[in-house]
Amino acid sequence: MGISRVLPPLSRVSPLYTSAFFHLVPIASAPLPFRPLATVSTAVSASQAQDASTLSYSKMGQNRWKPMCLYYTQGKCTMMDDPMHLEKFNHNCSWDLHVDPSNLNRICPQNLDFFLVLDLEGKVEILEFPVVMVDAKTMEVVDFFHRFVRPSGMSEQRINEYIEGKYGKFGVHGVWHDTAIPFKDVLQQFEAWLAQHHLWEKQLGGSLNRAAFVTCGNWDLKTKVPQQCNVSMVELPSYFMEWINLKDVYLNFYKRRATGMMTMMKELRIPSLGSHHLGFDDAKNISRVLQRMLADGALIRITARRKPDYPHEVEFLFRNRIR
Ligand SMILES: [Zn+2]
Repeated sequence: MGISRVLPPLSRVSPLYTSAFFHLVPIASAPLPFRPLATVSTAVSASQAQDASTLSYSKMGQNRWKPMCLYYTQGKCTMMDDPMHLEKFNHNCSWDLHVDPSNLNRICPQNLDFFLVLDLEGKVEILEFPVVMVDAKTMEVVDFFHRFVRPSGMSEQRINEYIEGKYGKFGVHGVWHDTAIPFKDVLQQFEAWLAQHHLWEKQLGGSLNRAAFVTCGNWDLKTKVPQQCNVSMVELPSYFMEWINLKDVYLNFYKRRATGMMTMMKELRIPSLGSHHLGFDDAKNISRVLQRMLADGALIRITARRKPDYPHEVEFLFRNRIR
């Protein structure tokens, strides 16, 4: 999608912001001066108009959809007092993931308290690490974690070409260059974020506490994270040992095979928002699928687990699964 994200000049982006600042920024920030629907972005799927979703998009009917500020998602937006900037970019991650309480009727008790929807970007090396934290009971977005990731085994020229090809079409290559940090640092900041939410403690190790990653497929955690850990010379963290492949849960719950996120969204008639293959937008779209499945009464369970003694081996827990 050709949304041009006009970026704040580099000078306005302080390199001094830390993840600590990030956590002080509430998701539900002050109401923004939304404009009426007349200027709906073309990035909103046409299916939105005929959406029969159980989730409420009434808020979107009153307010114009706009792309996320990708400085804000990383705790690095310094233009929160600039009305022009606020008018152009969304600074409230949960407003288009709003849940209508009437959709909680059929939700079934879950074994987990939180789902961490993760959708990595980058085939050669990880370029983006977005996580949306969803409450298993209320289906609301509790918080999010988002970082652009700078490859560690690539020349500067190669990185520039890679980023231009991958993010240039979304108009976000500038924000990528302004903000990307090495994978090792992303993990460190992510662990601080996990600890802040009492989901994992470095001293205790082990798996996540009453939470699990939700991914679309097994690639993110089975393949890509261990590969990147190798390249970045870090040990595979213990919280990455198990996950939920939403496509397997989808297959077993709806008795229909879905090859990817877009198929699930199409079949469930959920509007796809934002730019497909921009990691943060994809993580939000997968969160919409998750919310729908919860609302429909699905039990969202762990589908894959590494064997503690043989971490390179993955055990798949569902007999019927997408291969
Ligand atoms: Zn911003």
